[in-house]
Amino acid sequence: MIILIDQDGPLADFTAGFNSYWAKMFPGRLIISKERRKNFYLEEDYPEDLRPLIEKVFFVEGFYRNLPVVEGAIEAIGEMIRAGFDVRICTSPRTRYENCVLEKYQWVENNFGHEFTKGMIMTRDKTLVKGDYLIDDKPEIIGSASPEWEHLLFDYPYNQDAKNKRRINWKNWKDIIFP
Ligand SMILES: [Mg+2]
Repeated sequence: MIILIDQDGPLADFTAGFNSYWAKMFPGRLIISKERRKNFYLEEDYPEDLRPLIEKVFFVEGFYRNLPVVEGAIEAIGEMIRAGFDVRICTSPRTRYENCVLEKYQWVENNFGHEFTKGMIMTRDKTLVKGDYLIDDKPEIIGSASPEWEHLLFDYPYNQDAKNKRRINWKNWKDIIFP
């Protein structure tokens, strides 16, 4: 069984990482906690006039490399690998890819070890990738193919509007993957 796992959201805590850089780089500004996030794209949770500053966080050196790991993610991936599954990170880099591409690899190496970087798949079109499941926090994943995988929606406050998918997190994942 091939299990594809999105990086930002299921594994890397994008909101927590953003909030800590945001508070350091632009102290005193509006800051939106994870629980109060409403939109999949973080910048859409903020007023329009803050968006140029938000972009500065996304592109600052070290931002992607220093994202915290989502609680339970390391244990879950370890268990999947021990169960014999082919587990791969499947991630879409930013279109403006400096420093994101390199730092996504560094992040995986730092948190999961160098060996795990070898299976990484970076693509802007996940529908072209083969697999049984794709665990991803994005509500809709579209591309140029009809995907083979079932999209398991990694549960977050900002994707609650999506009703047509099975939801997964690092507490309930075994009930879904080992039915
Ligand atoms: Mg994601």
